Amino acid sequence: MKVIVIGGGIGGLCAAIALQKQGVETIVYEAAPELKPVGAGVGLAANAIQGLARLGVADAVIARGKELEALTIFDEHNNIITNQDTRPLSRKYGISNFVIHRADLHDVLAQNLKPGTLYLNKRCQSIDQKNDKVHVYFTDGTDATADLLIAADGINSVVRQQLLPESKPRYAGYTCWRGVIENPGVKLNTMISAETWAPQGRVGMAPLPGKRIYWYACINAPEQDERMRQMTPEQLAGHFTGVHEPVQAVLAATKPNQMIWGDIADLKPLDKFVYNRIVLLGDAAHATTPNMGQGACQAIEDAVVLGQCLEQETSIAKALANYEKRRLVRTAKVIRMSRMLGWVSQWENPLLIGLRNAVFRATPAFVTQRQMEDLYKVDF
Ligand SMILES: Cc1cc2nc3c(=O)[nH]c(=O)nc-3n(C[C@H](O)[C@H](O)[C@H](O)COP(=O)(O)OP(=O)(O)OC[C@H]3O[C@@H](n4cnc5c(N)ncnc54)[C@H](O)[C@@H]3O)c2cc1C
Repeated sequence: MKVIVIGGGIGGLCAAIALQKQGVETIVYEAAPELKPVGAGVGLAANAIQGLARLGVADAVIARGKELEALTIFDEHNNIITNQDTRPLSRKYGISNFVIHRADLHDVLAQNLKPGTLYLNKRCQSIDQKNDKVHVYFTDGTDATADLLIAADGINSVVRQQLLPESKPRYAGYTCWRGVIENPGVKLNTMISAETWAPQGRVGMAPLPGKRIYWYACINAPEQDERMRQMTPEQLAGHFTGVHEPVQAVLAATKPNQMIWGDIADLKPLDKFVYNRIVLLGDAAHATTPNMGQGACQAIEDAVVLGQCLEQETSIAKALANYEKRRLVRTAKVIRMSRMLGWVSQWENPLLIGLRNAVFRATPAFVTQRQMEDLYKVDF
């Protein structure tokens, strides 16, 4: 069997590692001309770390990131809205609260591919299926053929758009900046992943190894708003005037070229991931808003489950059917819960904010813990 993976993101690389480990001939085609150290931080929960362990790369990933002890949400005055001590879950399921620079995660994954199996500067333009063979046509005029095509080309997947033209990314109503900076000398709790829910938006912060800080900020805005695109770090810091420190200090210390901007979007849950010999994986299949920090985690789960199904089943068709059965419900649940959490956390109305914060404060820790356990328990 020959497998082609379109997209060398977290999902595509993990899928290729899973299959290559089983001896399946697998080639990854990535549109970007080089694997640059792009992106900011990424949080990984226990389900992802368990997935990475199955792929044999968990130790290498863990060595490059940082394990944290709690997920804490503050209001704009630095009062705690909710605090989830993740240590008990880490003891039960393995590291449950972990942050790493995306570039480091990518680097580890790329290093674990068989040499010569990742082709850069190869943008898929279209696909075609005949007699259980999939043909891929690239924008450079070349093409390739395989028995199975894994579409891991992200939320704007060209492959998905060709199969399901009606499935389009849905804007969530808020736009997001993120960055990684050297700590500019601010006091930061380096054992927690912190998020502040202020009336003017949300800011999250987590420490990265090497005295770096990963931050993100979300503001309600019209889609693709020109004013948001042009926002400077100083203006963003100004937007959060009145919010507890070190929020403004960290935003203001960011250089314009350290800041990445993009609207937040997801996909309406699909009812199929498999189209004969083409399978959707990661964001191409089930892009979610980042509010639960589960997009990459679910992509890693997809890769492990797909590998397991292909190994255990007697035919590709059966394996793909099993993959779809195991992944549809779980990923749809994440999309729905994450969208709801994002909506609630971006409220601006003072009455609603007061009510929300009171409900979160009154929610017993074991309830949140149970919800997190649902995510951390994997079926592989
Ligand atoms: C602000 C923000 C914060 C996030 N934080 C977290 C977090 O803390 N934890 C978490 O688990 N998830 C998080 N996510 C989600 C996570 O980033 C994604 O779910 C994850 O990157 C999906 O991986 P993927 O490989 O499926 O897609 P992508 O990362 O989008 O990779 C797709 C790849 O395909 C390539 N490609 C695209 N089109 C083509 C083509 N036509 N031909 C060839 N190659 C192509 C792209 O260049 C890219 O390399 C966050 C997302 C955002 C936006």
